[in-house]
Amino acid sequence: MKRCIYCAAILQRGLSFEPSPFLFVTMLVLGVGQDAASVYLAEALAWHWPSAAEGWPKARPDACRARGRADSEPRSIAAPALRQGQAPKNNDNLVCALCASRWHAPPYIVEPTLPCTLLRMLKIAFSPIYKYELPEKHRFPMIKYELIPEQLLYEGTVSEDQFFHPAPLTEEEILWTHEAAYWDKLKHQALSPKEIRAIGFPMTARLIERGRHIANGTVQCAHYARQYGVAMNVAGGTHHSFSHKGEGFCVFNDIAIASNHLLKHRLAKKILVIDLDVHQGNGTAQIFQHEPRVFTFSMHGEKNYPHRKVPSDLDIGLPDKTEDGPYLKLLKDTLPRLLDKVQPDHVFYLSGVDVIYSDKLGRLSLSLEGCKERDRLVLQACHQHRIPVTVSMGGGYSERLSHIVEAHANTFRTAQEIFF
Ligand SMILES: [Zn+2]
Repeated sequence: MKRCIYCAAILQRGLSFEPSPFLFVTMLVLGVGQDAASVYLAEALAWHWPSAAEGWPKARPDACRARGRADSEPRSIAAPALRQGQAPKNNDNLVCALCASRWHAPPYIVEPTLPCTLLRMLKIAFSPIYKYELPEKHRFPMIKYELIPEQLLYEGTVSEDQFFHPAPLTEEEILWTHEAAYWDKLKHQALSPKEIRAIGFPMTARLIERGRHIANGTVQCAHYARQYGVAMNVAGGTHHSFSHKGEGFCVFNDIAIASNHLLKHRLAKKILVIDLDVHQGNGTAQIFQHEPRVFTFSMHGEKNYPHRKVPSDLDIGLPDKTEDGPYLKLLKDTLPRLLDKVQPDHVFYLSGVDVIYSDKLGRLSLSLEGCKERDRLVLQACHQHRIPVTVSMGGGYSERLSHIVEAHANTFRTAQEIFF
């Protein structure tokens, strides 16, 4: 697969078509977005018919990077198929399907410098800091954070350029969601032993740092989701974190933080949180108790932790040992009604896989296929309604590590299938 060095559009051998209003309409139909379509058409026009391009937004006459690059010095090589600087063979007739750029030799593949909607891909937040060293025999399977990306890369579901390392969240953004007193205690390592026990991880500065990276991962995923339809964080889904305290392996509430980020920046008017982790989303419910712009939905094991639940906008508590059939039917009935009622312009999906039968903490009995079907229902619904969806991983504590990795990997595979 070869990509245009400018816009990363896939190059089609021998195909040469001029950009035209037809292209613009096609891009709209394909859901690339009106702004992006305008920019692209503007740039394509600018190259081919400079005079016709006047008046289009953000037109850049020099935009078609495929031109004039041939003789410049080698650039960083970005396109996966052309890493290590291999020259594409017989490249004379390669033409960008979008902007009709010709492929020049030698193939200096440059990182696209403008936001390129044809470079649509499943962006995934991950950093090595996600894996936090725990004492031996700790019940949290921290290793999953390493194994999920490894598995996805190994099987070829994703490539390395889809991952990004989120920077730590700023203090200001933390304080949009969490109380200053709580943040102060975290920052100065001043939580009481009882508060630390409630969180369930040994407390160190690195744990806080990790939480900041993860939370910002979800924030950045929310931006990518707006661009590409979906984006996923390899961790997060820390829904037991309240505005004033943490518990149940949750320090910061990443989904609440990202929701507040979108609201503050006026990037969303109405947000729907679909929390399908087996545990009820008590922290998220508390944080948005009085926020009408965020609708919290949690479907969970009724008898499971947290035993004192904070009411979400919609809670569905399931009996122990609920299996695929009733679970999926309920979800299938609920999702369309919910989307219709809430009319969200952004969805956060908490895809905890502690719903599967082999989970140590779950108490439900979904199969791996059932859990995958659950993901498909949610992601498909968002895709159909064209609502950007940001996915955070949430829990997964199966006795069998392979089940945890498989179930989480299924969420990525399903997103990749539906959206790309
Ligand atoms: Zn859980």
